[in-house]
Amino acid sequence: MTAQSSRTAGSVSSSSVAAGPVTTGPVTLVGGGPGAAELLTVAAVTALAQADVVLFDRLAPSDDLASLAPQATLIDVGKRAGSHPVSQTGIEELMVEHALAGKRVVRLKGGDPYVFGRGSEEVLACHRNGIAVTVISGVTSALAVPAAAGIPLTHRGISHAFTVISGHAPLTDNELEGLTLLGSTIVVLMGVGTLPTLSQGLLRHGMSAEMPVAIIERGFSATQRTTVSTLSAVLADAAAAGVRSPAVLVVGEVVRLAYSGDAAAEDLVARAAEFAGTD
Ligand code: SAH
Repeated sequence: MTAQSSRTAGSVSSSSVAAGPVTTGPVTLVGGGPGAAELLTVAAVTALAQADVVLFDRLAPSDDLASLAPQATLIDVGKRAGSHPVSQTGIEELMVEHALAGKRVVRLKGGDPYVFGRGSEEVLACHRNGIAVTVISGVTSALAVPAAAGIPLTHRGISHAFTVISGHAPLTDNELEGLTLLGSTIVVLMGVGTLPTLSQGLLRHGMSAEMPVAIIERGFSATQRTTVSTLSAVLADAAAAGVRSPAVLVVGEVVRLAYSGDAAAEDLVARAAEFAGTD
């Protein structure tokens, strides 16, 4: 195979072909990270600096956008639950229209473009119109928001896997059963609305009523807030706290690790150390 390799999304290259230079398509899909300007990648900052048009989302870091993309027309296509100022099709049409007009288009999304971000749909829309797309990965909220609350997703001896799942639609019984059997950390995005089915479903499938649950709202903002509860109490606690989207939910023993100094956390860490050995 003599295919030219490139890092442009959609190009097919055999695994034996060395990566070529980064080709810059007219459209760059940029993961903006979880909301803190410091968590934009260097590649994201470079793409923004060169952009003629930036289409950005509600959860993308947008405060400093005018200085990060000084030559660009900034278009807010932000989506809020229940209302879509610009539809998904509309966003794709805007990307294509500006790219075909010869503009360098940055599509700036929150977190990572390929984690529940509909980024792949936007790439496909560009490809259907013969437009090359470069994808720049971002720091996903699935990992960074728990970390901002002091919660690691893995810890030797406590959890050696994590599942990131969308709570946009209620989980099926098979999914709830699978998560319970897996027994590792569960991270839920877009999960505030479906918290009742999640918590009741996990309990129904045998997960411990005492399993810790953390809900981290508005990660990396001045109003970031963590609500910690247990699987059996989380519905009442979330309602009492008035928990709202955007939030990342973490279900798992690792939640205790955010509370070192706390007796339960110390006990857990001691047991994990015994289990994990010393290396
Ligand atoms: N592509 C994004 C996720 C898009 S889905 C990523 O990789 O992060 C949108 C969901 O992400 C929100 O409903 C919420 O669950 C989560 N989210 C994104 N940013 C967040 C933040 N700063 N604080 C809390 N939750 C956030």
